[in-house]
Amino acid sequence: MKILVINCGSSSLKYQLFNMDKEEVMVKGLVERIGIEGSRLIQEKDDDKYIIEESMKDHTEAVSHVFNALVDKENGVISELSEIDAVGHRFVHGGEKITASSIINDEVKDAINEYTKFAPLHNPANLMGLKACEELLPGTPNVAVFDTAFHQTMPSKTFLYGIDYKYYEEDGIRKYGFHGTSHKFITNKTAELLGKDVEDLNIISCHLGNGSSITAIKNGKSYDTSMGLTPLEGLIMGTRSGDMDPAVITYLMENKNISPKDMENLLNKESGVYGVSGVSSDFRDLEDSAKEGNERAQIALDIFQTRAKRYIAGYMAEIGSVDAIVFTGGIGENSINMRKDILDGFQQFGIEIDDEKNNVRGGAHVISTDDSKVKVMVVATNEELMIARDTKELVELDK
Ligand code: AMP
Repeated sequence: MKILVINCGSSSLKYQLFNMDKEEVMVKGLVERIGIEGSRLIQEKDDDKYIIEESMKDHTEAVSHVFNALVDKENGVISELSEIDAVGHRFVHGGEKITASSIINDEVKDAINEYTKFAPLHNPANLMGLKACEELLPGTPNVAVFDTAFHQTMPSKTFLYGIDYKYYEEDGIRKYGFHGTSHKFITNKTAELLGKDVEDLNIISCHLGNGSSITAIKNGKSYDTSMGLTPLEGLIMGTRSGDMDPAVITYLMENKNISPKDMENLLNKESGVYGVSGVSSDFRDLEDSAKEGNERAQIALDIFQTRAKRYIAGYMAEIGSVDAIVFTGGIGENSINMRKDILDGFQQFGIEIDDEKNNVRGGAHVISTDDSKVKVMVVATNEELMIARDTKELVELDK
């Protein structure tokens, strides 16, 4: 079975075509600058790059170029589009209506539209990709895989905010959580690596990247997570603020004359380790600057690891017993120093990283000492494969 996975942003589109018989990526690509001058498609197969530089005024045109690239005689990997059995789409927000990946129907589309209020940039972009596939690949099933769905198992004590309950009832204001596809992949993979049934697995999944979230997983299900109504809550991130006293926001808006739109931009794009350091949102740059003596870069890194400690320790107490603390995402998989700094202080609970074993990037490894009370692991995430797996499963069930 061949599954195309599509992840649309407002002006970009990433895709991967999987041969699910072997769970192999046949080809992957990226379309940039959709609707902007200079649009281009870059497709990668093994070490070869195929580049199309042409105007693409909207997502339909972008998807059309993706299809042409897939069947291109020289650079493509299939001879006809009918070889694609289904398309899996990444969607960001499905709110409370969507608790699992779903074959697209009117009910799913209604939920996507309803929760656009909390994901105004992402849900409409994801929908554009879907619309293009419906138009250009009629009859091929489309499946939506949501960032929020995995977290719908959280109990009310972890998802409700301390504000008047009517805002939850009337407006749906609550924690939804994100990166669910990655946390689900990590849960399944860790269970497999530890030889446990998913239903018996308790882990702390740390997805640390440009956007970061930590999830407490109890009995294979999301129990609590650090992101909230939107991906702004929780850890300090590349350019997102993460947690702070909500009064900071009202103070700044009143005293600096900042509008809600500008505030949203400030909190999402100009804050985080970038805002604190004034150097970069990229952790490699921050580590380099800190080494050269840049104090603010060091403070930004220190805030990041301090908050990660708080979430990990808090979540361990919430779920009682933990099989593993798992690091993933660009930082979690690659930053040897950050993993060590985050777990420094956990020795008092009998949890310890082995420096030699920690000297790894990506893959799937146990990095704790043999007698550490809780295993510490590095597991590379693969959200696209998770989307392809869910898509395959649903399409097969629907046959
Ligand atoms: P992601 O959003 O998961 O792609 O992660 C991107 C983040 O991972 C960026 O902030 C990168 O700086 C960070 N990253 C990637 N490689 C490394 C590395 N070797 N050391 C530290 N951070 C890294």
